Amino acid sequence: MLIGLSVFPLGGRQKSEGRFLKTEVSVAVPVGSDSSIRRSVFKAHTLSFCGTLRAPVLTLDLSTKNARSKKGYTICMSVQQANAPKVAVSPLQLEDAKEPPLNTFKPKEPYTATIVSVERLVGPKAPGEVCHVVIDHGGNVPYWEGQSYGVIPPGENPKKPGNPHNVRLYSIASTRYGDSFDGRTASLCVRRALYYDPETGKEDPSKSGVCSNFLCNAKPGDKVKITGPSGKIMLLPEDNPNATHIMIATGTGIAPFRGYLRRMFMESVPTYKFGGLAWLFLGVANSDSLLYDDEFSKYLRDYPDNFRYDTALSREQNNKKGGKMYVQDKIEEYSDEIFKLLDEGAHIYFCGLKGMMPGIQDTLKRVAVERGESWEEKLSQLKKNKQWHVEVY
Ligand code: FAD
Repeated sequence: MLIGLSVFPLGGRQKSEGRFLKTEVSVAVPVGSDSSIRRSVFKAHTLSFCGTLRAPVLTLDLSTKNARSKKGYTICMSVQQANAPKVAVSPLQLEDAKEPPLNTFKPKEPYTATIVSVERLVGPKAPGEVCHVVIDHGGNVPYWEGQSYGVIPPGENPKKPGNPHNVRLYSIASTRYGDSFDGRTASLCVRRALYYDPETGKEDPSKSGVCSNFLCNAKPGDKVKITGPSGKIMLLPEDNPNATHIMIATGTGIAPFRGYLRRMFMESVPTYKFGGLAWLFLGVANSDSLLYDDEFSKYLRDYPDNFRYDTALSREQNNKKGGKMYVQDKIEEYSDEIFKLLDEGAHIYFCGLKGMMPGIQDTLKRVAVERGESWEEKLSQLKKNKQWHVEVY
């Protein structure tokens, strides 16, 4: 079996304004036989283009001798094919547990992990900043996709002098194997919480969010106290590998879905071969605010039968009534299909800011009424069948 990875030397997916050029090649090396080649040949680089920092991606280090010939491996440049081969992961024992790990580390005895990298994920025109934070837990704080870590920022809790800060939760944005595919890291997708004085409109640094700013300002090698993992509601049900998963995210709510999608489409896990449909709806302010767009666009190219990806850009697109395009407007656009999929047993997930839910629920309710159905009954059935998963904050 072969694995393939794309290399984007000039930038990510072509954006709407056509600002970015994309050059993509794929390389192929055998899977599962020699993980050292994986580690030594591929290394993370930060992409920088048009003055925009993007997430690190795995790039091919052709200067590495392993890339040329190690035990006779051939690395060939080829055109990216549909159903692209996947990346080998380890240790596969991470598949063995029957139940997810829960609260291995508690606030009184957190695990001290190390920051691997912090990268700005959004472009210059995005309102606010979102960072991709990779944390090395040394394999000591395993988790499943859809769980969260707690982070205890350094310093004293101003409300309880002499005590540490309260734990802040962050959805984990990687699979259990982490972005380095070796089960030693977890990634978080963190929005920097800033405070703007409502009267002057000016930023007031004394009221900036403690933990998000700590994480977004962290440097490689910094220590970070983590707790968890926690949460069961957003676990990816894997009993049926052909199931449909409809994912609705706003902003950093994308985190758990990035983990799901890497598991479905990027990683080679012998015991989980996804053959169903994953449909992602992502709502953000504008195209510069899109998160992990390169990854998702690649799945769209490689797995067109298994992946759908719709974005709602509230400050760039209009809904059919001429108002701002929110994620619920996209849901409405596809409501017939969504309702049909739910009737057939699809799972639906919501993650992001609390404020997203009322608008979405109103839309779903309106659609149900138009279809002559009772939303209350439908919702209670979805909950009863464990098809309905919500994590908002
Ligand atoms: P805090 O210091 O806790 O401040 C909270 C807010 O109050 C900030 O906006 C701050 O600017 C404002 N503030 C501070 N002082 C004042 C003041 N005097 N007056 C008025 N306002 C003030 N967040 C993510 O970014 N990504 C995730 O994936 C994520 N996942 C989550 C998952 C779960 C299950 C939950 C519950 C939450 C999640 N969060 C996530 C939110 C996260 O836990 C934090 O709440 C968030 O990062 C803000 O924490 P902070 O320490 O930066 O801000």
